[in-house]
Amino acid sequence: MKERQLLMLPGPTPVPPEVLQALARPMINHRGPEFKALLDEAAEGLKEVFRTSQEVLILTGAGTGAMEAAVSNFVSPGEQVLVVSIGSFGDRFAQIAERFGAKVDKLEFAWGTAADPAALAERIKADVDKEIKAVFVTHNETSTGVTNDIPALRAAVGDHPALFIVDAVSSLGAMPLETDDWNLDVVVAGSQKSFMIPPGLAFACVSPRAWEVAARCTNARFYWDLVKARKSAATGQTPFTPAIPQVAALVESLRIIRADGLEDTFARYRRLREMTRQGVRALGLELLAADAVASTAVTAVLPPAGLEANTLRKAIRERFNVVLAGGQGKLDNKIFRIGHLGYVHELEIITVLAALELTLTLCGHRVELGSGVKAAQAVVLAAVGA
Ligand SMILES: *Cc1c(COP(=O)(O)O)cnc(C)c1O
Repeated sequence: MKERQLLMLPGPTPVPPEVLQALARPMINHRGPEFKALLDEAAEGLKEVFRTSQEVLILTGAGTGAMEAAVSNFVSPGEQVLVVSIGSFGDRFAQIAERFGAKVDKLEFAWGTAADPAALAERIKADVDKEIKAVFVTHNETSTGVTNDIPALRAAVGDHPALFIVDAVSSLGAMPLETDDWNLDVVVAGSQKSFMIPPGLAFACVSPRAWEVAARCTNARFYWDLVKARKSAATGQTPFTPAIPQVAALVESLRIIRADGLEDTFARYRRLREMTRQGVRALGLELLAADAVASTAVTAVLPPAGLEANTLRKAIRERFNVVLAGGQGKLDNKIFRIGHLGYVHELEIITVLAALELTLTLCGHRVELGSGVKAAQAVVLAAVGA
């Protein structure tokens, strides 16, 4: 019998049974009334998660496609942009902007730390001629497990006219994000992280101010033309054939999210983060991110001295069928990452910690069996006041 796999990635995340069933339904006409009903329900549900009264566009593609759209629809060639980067996904925004002809200034922070709002404020203040047309920020840097303080960074930009564009691919639905209240101009997200559906959909929410910029933007785009997507959405359609099963799945996942409630979902993710961090610490392992900026979506861990991260990942997968993420870019083989968002519960964290204890032991690294599990159990009890 094949062992059940424990997929503990920061995307793709496990998919609940009722969502899997929605994926298996027969095809329908994407220009017909059934699809329009699905698209309308999904778009309404997304507004609740984005915390916005604006429309949310549902696009077919990877999250990076929505990142590209967040560049090509709002930045014209030759324009100056500022990209705040604390890791691999921040760097990706800079790469995309460069590819689309922007003059890119990068405000970088050490991987494993969060962006400093004061440093951003200083850079913005120095732009006396208001040359910067857009500021790009990653909400949750999945490559390091660090969450940026978006309200503080938004405040640092103040009344400078630059658009404020946020990659929320791994944060939306996993931690508080207020599109309207935080005055965010463009927010993009994807389907395979907190939304508990397979990869294939991307979402974008655009402020009225940003729509005006899009109307004037001279950059080339065809598939990722958000103005065209908006026109189609108004008629309950998409410009091109959408990933129909994913939209049906999204409707189901949004029903689950609504039934659970966003606040309770965030509380669950905070608990999973604490279980993971306390458990890993009890095993004597070091965490990449400090407590104050630690992500509720994913935790990055340094392996013990003498054991490579990828060796440990291979061992835990081969022996226990637990799938952990590796490091990206310069953190490859230096860290491993435990995803804890989406359809993930307390007992899965306990299981991962137990498997980690066994794997470390089998790899010749002495740990006290049960110590990580015990620390995580203490978090569960503390959460109910026991
Ligand atoms: C996963 C992720 C992306 C990219 O999503 P893809 O679907 O892999 O293109 C972008 N930004 C962040 C922060 C992510 O976590």
